[in-house]
Amino acid sequence: MTDIDTRPSLTTDRPPAGGPAPGPETALCELEAVLPGQVLRPGGPGWESARRGWAVNVDQQPLAVVTVQDPEDVVAAVRCAGRHGLSVSTQPVGHGATTALTGTVLLRTGALQDLDVDVERRVARVGAGVKWGTLLAALEPTGLTALAGSSPDPSVVGFTLGGGLSWFSRALGLCAHSTVAFDLVDARGVRRRISAASDPDLFWALRGGGGDFGVVLAVEVALHEAGPLLGGRLLWPLEMARPVLQAFRRITAEAPDELSLWAHLFRFPPLPELPELLRGRAFISVDLTFLGAPAELDGLLAPLRQLPVLVLDTVGRVPLSELGGIAAEPVDPMPTQEYSELLRTLDAATVDRLVDAAGAGVELPLAVVQIRHLGGALARATTEDGPNGAVPEEYSVFCLGVPVAPGLPEAIDAAFDTVRAALGEQRAGRAFFNFLGHESDLGSTFSAPARERLRRVKAETDPSGLFRSNRPV
Ligand SMILES: Cc1cc2nc3c(=O)[nH]c(=O)nc-3n(C[C@H](O)[C@H](O)[C@H](O)COP(=O)(O)OP(=O)(O)OC[C@H]3O[C@@H](n4cnc5c(N)ncnc54)[C@H](O)[C@@H]3O)c2cc1C
Repeated sequence: MTDIDTRPSLTTDRPPAGGPAPGPETALCELEAVLPGQVLRPGGPGWESARRGWAVNVDQQPLAVVTVQDPEDVVAAVRCAGRHGLSVSTQPVGHGATTALTGTVLLRTGALQDLDVDVERRVARVGAGVKWGTLLAALEPTGLTALAGSSPDPSVVGFTLGGGLSWFSRALGLCAHSTVAFDLVDARGVRRRISAASDPDLFWALRGGGGDFGVVLAVEVALHEAGPLLGGRLLWPLEMARPVLQAFRRITAEAPDELSLWAHLFRFPPLPELPELLRGRAFISVDLTFLGAPAELDGLLAPLRQLPVLVLDTVGRVPLSELGGIAAEPVDPMPTQEYSELLRTLDAATVDRLVDAAGAGVELPLAVVQIRHLGGALARATTEDGPNGAVPEEYSVFCLGVPVAPGLPEAIDAAFDTVRAALGEQRAGRAFFNFLGHESDLGSTFSAPARERLRRVKAETDPSGLFRSNRPV
């Protein structure tokens, strides 16, 4: 273990004599004294938006929200909460919002924007508030990349603590498996640099086990050769779902690790802000990235491109800063209901059932049914790489509904059941941490031995349960 900042608490050790009543009130008064203007309580101005995650229908009810400005603020908040027996949660953006943080002091870490790219060492040190879009834009001139996912909006730290399934994971593994070290405030309020050499068990837990072990101030991620990145979207009317998904299945069964294909069944609402081509219509798309040569990609995509009624083909060179544009996911907060599951494989019969259940002609209140191809480096990982270990499942499904009207929450849940029934025996009964539904727990993602090891690390590093992640171990 390396202590890199052991300065004393910025607060007094005890609340002042004759001060406010003991309990949370005392703690919050002390926090307000130490971090003036940075602590927001229920009912205060802006409380409703401050307590919300990205999925606005998740009813997060923290005790208070603290907007930290620098690492010293984090140290002060953790020490104060620890002295008073309160729990601390961290949420930079809120894509992973759950109700687990009810009753905690919620730290907003968006202001921790340190970013240092060391091209020589091929390592980026990324502060807890830095979003993927910012990191990718900084990496673009270097020819190097980190293992980004589909959206530019999540923080690099939040994404990585949950494993981080990247566009490039088939070639290079989970983002968490490319981490070098974490700069963290531990349960004693001490700032430490955690690496495989300094704290092997804690480092292992942080590589995908979530935010239950401290407040991460920054992560150091290994950078990889980006080469000439190719990618884009092929789009057909949803009526083409059957031949497109069958071709997707055949290509992915043989694809090189450098190729990542994700299929989407989209139902776009009739919103004026959508492009006219998409507004109020339903489509099947195959989105992709490729780290190999353009000529090779043309051959790989030929079975898709020869299918009729291709209405859009944007495949070409993609600047790294525009990686998030391929899947073009929404970034504004909205209500969502989500279901995700790993799939053992995708055979022809499962594709047929899925198209019967979710294809054209079916009324289904799901904006997206997405299938991501896995395999490659994901399957070759080991249990020592982090709690995910190897991922033998070949695909992952993710469904999203937008419950904006009465009755829709129930209808969306019923639609998830319809999709589950269609996937049948290919369902693996677990999902990636970052894709778990709002109320799922770690029993739905990690193996029993991995969960046991996570609990051991938690007991050793945070015996009083000071930290509470969105999916507590
Ligand atoms: C549109 C969209 C696309 C997505 N695409 C992908 C994808 O391609 N691949 C993928 O893997 N995931 C993906 N996700 C899921 C996303 O990566 C996770 O939900 C991730 O947690 C979101 O990051 P965030 O910054 O919003 O985290 P938040 O929701 O703000 O935080 C999530 C949790 O992370 C922990 N945490 C965050 N920061 C810290 C910190 N500094 N210290 C300690 N703990 C911390 C906390 O436990 C917190 O509860 C996507 C989500 C959305 C909405």
